[in-house]
Amino acid sequence: MALGTDGNIPEKIRRFIYNLTYMAAFQPTIKRKPIEELFIYKNLMYGPSYKTHINIDRTDLHIDGPYCPKCRGLLSYKNNTQPLGGLSCTVCNFQCSNEKDIAGLREAALRAFEANQRLALRVVSLDLPPGVVKAENENEDYWVEARIGQKDGKLQGMILMGRKVKDQSKKDYVQIILDPEEEQMRFDKGNQNPMELLAKIEVEFQKSKVRQEGKD
Ligand SMILES: [Zn+2]
Repeated sequence: MALGTDGNIPEKIRRFIYNLTYMAAFQPTIKRKPIEELFIYKNLMYGPSYKTHINIDRTDLHIDGPYCPKCRGLLSYKNNTQPLGGLSCTVCNFQCSNEKDIAGLREAALRAFEANQRLALRVVSLDLPPGVVKAENENEDYWVEARIGQKDGKLQGMILMGRKVKDQSKKDYVQIILDPEEEQMRFDKGNQNPMELLAKIEVEFQKSKVRQEGKD
C-alpha cells in the first residue's frame, strides 16, 4: 500500500502515520556526555565519551579519533581504498602506519581505556579466605603484630614490630611485608630499618628461603 495522495488511505489515518514517523525521526534517542579528557594509546590520541541510548536506558563508552598526537587534528586514511595503507593528519603533516584500520584502532583504544579505568578500583579476591588473620604479642619493651590478609587480590603477610616508646612515629617501628605468591620479602622504607632492630630475618616460603642479616 502506498502512502501517496491516491486517496486509498483516509486523510485522518495518513496524517496520524505521518505524525508518528515525524516524531520517531526527530526524537533524540542518543544522549552524549563527553569525558573531559583525551588519552594517548600507542602514540595516537583518542577522545572518550559516554553515549546513552535513552529508549533502552543503556550507556556505552564511545571512542572518537584517532587524533593527531602533534596537533590533535583528525586522522584519516591516506588512501580511502586502502585502510591499512597508513593514516595522515587532516591538519598538519603528521603521518603514521598501523596494523589496524580506524575501527580496529578505536576498538583497541576502547579496551585499553576501560582497562585503565578499572585500575582505580580495589580488587578483592574471592579465591582467598575472607578477612584478616591477626596475632599480637608484647612485653615491657617491645610489641609485635603479624597479619595475613589480601591486598589487590593477592595474599599478603605483614609483620609490624617496634620498641615501646611514647608518641610512636613511623620511624619507631619496623614493617616487613611478605608476598607469598612471588616469594618475596620487603621493608617499608617509611618505617624503621629492620636491621636496626633485628640481627637476622629468615622467611621460609614454599619453594625458597629469604634471609637478611645485619653487617656484624
Ligand atoms: Zn596533525
